[in-house]
Amino acid sequence: MPGGPSTAFSLGFLALLLGLSAGSFLNVVIHRLPRRDQGLSLFRPGRSFCPACGAAIRWHDNIPVLSWLLLKGACRDCRRPISIRYPLVELASGILALSLFNRYGPGPEFLIQYYFVLCLLAIALIDLEFMLLPVVLVYPAVGLGLLGAWAYPAPELAGPWLWLGLEPALSPPFISLAAAAAGLALGWGGLKAAAAAFKALRGREVLGDGDPPLLGLIGVYLGWRVLPLVILWALLIGLMSALTLMLLNRRDRPAEGWGRKALPFGPFLVLAAYLQIFFGQAFMAGYLSLAG
Ligand SMILES: [Zn+2]
Repeated sequence: MPGGPSTAFSLGFLALLLGLSAGSFLNVVIHRLPRRDQGLSLFRPGRSFCPACGAAIRWHDNIPVLSWLLLKGACRDCRRPISIRYPLVELASGILALSLFNRYGPGPEFLIQYYFVLCLLAIALIDLEFMLLPVVLVYPAVGLGLLGAWAYPAPELAGPWLWLGLEPALSPPFISLAAAAAGLALGWGGLKAAAAAFKALRGREVLGDGDPPLLGLIGVYLGWRVLPLVILWALLIGLMSALTLMLLNRRDRPAEGWGRKALPFGPFLVLAAYLQIFFGQAFMAGYLSLAG
């Protein structure tokens, strides 16, 4: 990066601050988007409020991560606990920003990829809590991803290992527009067709309405070849989570929350996509060295 290590460090620090603040806004999105029928919208009311007592949160109590720690995880007005999810989302958002900034440096590539991973985070957490996947977050991210693939064209890659889903996705920030469009069509259409076929055969819904659009979104950024691998990872993580929950809740099984029987698939798709985005290259190196 031009300007030497100290400039790189300051820019990285700025990216971290940007990420922490974006995480603060992401908390608003995660809280309000599924509660639109309660009169909440992203910009109304304009200030953040305590979900328990409704008191407006002072600006100095709204500093990412720090305020939660200083207030010991409770509201200043009613002293009722504020979920640890808030600082964790802020922290995750900051780390994601720093990590993608290190990879791409300042520029539209970084901003688009960062927007993508933030959307995934919001989708996963809303789906986890409400069993409802907010498709409204999918469309703009799909549009931006196609725009990025068009504006920053990457060469269409070749090689037999591509068929194992080992496309070095994100090494150039975007994949080719053709691979992105195919990812959208195959991810969205393919999963929808699979869910419809399962329903016709077994008469049971296995997927939520939002899962096919989510896989389409992942396909836009990671390419169609990676999709089987993403589904495989998501199934593995989902299976392990379900088994763990069964063991933990063997005696009493609440109807909702962590002990419920049905699990949303969205969070597992998102975890699998994160694995591919942040560790795909490492996996690929491992596979290739195994193959000699
Ligand atoms: Zn309160």
